[in-house]
Amino acid sequence: MTDLLQPVDSRTREILVLGGGTAGFLAALSLRRRNSDITVRVLQSSKLGIIGVGEGSLRQLPGFLHDYLGIDPKRFFAEVGPTWKLGIRFKWGKGGDFNYSFSPQVDVVHPHPDLPQPLGYYCWNDMEDHCVTSVLMRNDLVYLKDKNGRLDIGDDYGYHLDNRRFAAFLERYALEQGVEIIDDLVTHVDVGDDGVERLNLESGNSIAADLFVDCSGFASLLLGKTLDEPFVSYRSSLFCDKAIIGGWERSAEPVHPYTTSETMDSGWCWQIEHEERINRGYVYASDFVSDDDAEAEFRGRNPLIEETSIVRFRSGRFENAFVKNVVAIGNSAGFVEPLEATAIAAICTSSRALAETLRTNHGRITPAVRREFNHHNARSWDTIADFLAVHYRFNGMLDTPFWQACRADVDLRGAERIVSYYQENGPSQLWRLTLEDPVCRFRLDGYYTLLLGQQVPHARLGEVTDAERAAWARLKEATRAHASHGFTVPEALAAVRAPEWQWQPEHFKAA
Ligand SMILES: Cc1cc2nc3c(=O)[nH]c(=O)nc-3n(C[C@H](O)[C@H](O)[C@H](O)COP(=O)(O)OP(=O)(O)OC[C@H]3O[C@@H](n4cnc5c(N)ncnc54)[C@H](O)[C@@H]3O)c2cc1C
Repeated sequence: MTDLLQPVDSRTREILVLGGGTAGFLAALSLRRRNSDITVRVLQSSKLGIIGVGEGSLRQLPGFLHDYLGIDPKRFFAEVGPTWKLGIRFKWGKGGDFNYSFSPQVDVVHPHPDLPQPLGYYCWNDMEDHCVTSVLMRNDLVYLKDKNGRLDIGDDYGYHLDNRRFAAFLERYALEQGVEIIDDLVTHVDVGDDGVERLNLESGNSIAADLFVDCSGFASLLLGKTLDEPFVSYRSSLFCDKAIIGGWERSAEPVHPYTTSETMDSGWCWQIEHEERINRGYVYASDFVSDDDAEAEFRGRNPLIEETSIVRFRSGRFENAFVKNVVAIGNSAGFVEPLEATAIAAICTSSRALAETLRTNHGRITPAVRREFNHHNARSWDTIADFLAVHYRFNGMLDTPFWQACRADVDLRGAERIVSYYQENGPSQLWRLTLEDPVCRFRLDGYYTLLLGQQVPHARLGEVTDAERAAWARLKEATRAHASHGFTVPEALAAVRAPEWQWQPEHFKAA
């Protein structure tokens, strides 16, 4: 009989997280919260600092922070000052503006007895008024009023956060949770057969650990530079490689409850809403525009911009994120431009996966755990790149050399099957099981919203009847009426800051 008790890799007792940005502290806090018997230390360099950008989240973040990590939302609102994000307003595609909200928009079936098809079938040329969240976005409202005139807060929101304020909060919180924080600079790394042995520091000290979590940002000091893991580029689909970033102090502008993504001559520009500041960033392709010309276009559209800075990046991921005793999380593992603001969500997922694995396996990492972590990390980044490719291939708004090249040459990668299915059959859910990848953060609803929003033609396999047309009009009217009364972002912030406001678990259950 085979002995089921096979020897496994030895137990993890000490973890060193290299990097004190969003990734480093979210990873350290997850590990600490779920593995109280493991020592977790964070090593960061105040000389190098953090990236300072990364300000829009997906809808998983509030649940991750307040439910999984147990961070008190009242304190979070007081110390970090987030605003809410209900989705993205795209100034994109032939048809002009459309909303991509965190609530399902087009993949909704039978909301009305006279509408037999999913809503996407009725959305061609007309995406504005059938989804409550989308109407709220258009009206610059973040939440409905309940029957007592109070904030009716749901769980379909993400945050806009100031990156430095967020990381500084996480650092304070990590210290309180018993994470040791060291400020020093890694100068060289000792490597052995099992991976990294020790980090040698500028101070003359050195640090060893059983497991190293590489959160060193674009440097990818342990995974990329030290272990020399190969990089998988998304260059054939994503042509942009730089961002110019700037902003201004808010005056009378409304605080939108969404991120704006606006088509530019050689890329696109985000607008992120903070309570007292508006941040913008032009993501562009340096093969198509010089830094000076990009800055001129950026300032031309945003005359209030103060000082600017440029960040260079490459889109792609490392072949494996977990190699020997090094696991990379954050920009050190993979990166795509923030067109869908996915990086913080990827950090949360990886941090949680690592923390839960160590807890369940009593601190042991097996080869199959590394394999599955790597498979998930690769699928997660690849499916994000697939989805972004759809944004570039079909944006028919401008006829500049950059956009002509995108429409002609962008590789749709894994999105090809969903796109051709939609083109031949319309926004149908019938083959959801085979079309959707369970790892992909963007369901059929996301794909169909982007395709319909950009007015990518699809076959109509049946006629829309008069009864359906009338029902569609009634549905939109009812949605408009339902979403006409609500709270603006400043009103909602005042409400949650009031001493009597109590956050409830159902306000952030989507961890
Ligand atoms: C233009 C742009 C826009 C973005 N927008 C978004 C967005 O809207 N939403 C989103 O989710 N993400 C966005 N991101 C990604 C965002 O940057 C990350 O989600 C997030 O900030 C995590 O960064 P990080 O912790 O991996 O790296 P960093 O913040 O760069 O932290 C790296 C850490 O490693 C330390 N370090 C590095 N080398 C050494 C060394 N030798 N010795 C000691 N310490 C060292 C540094 O000091 C630092 O503490 C954006 C990125 C870019 C480039």
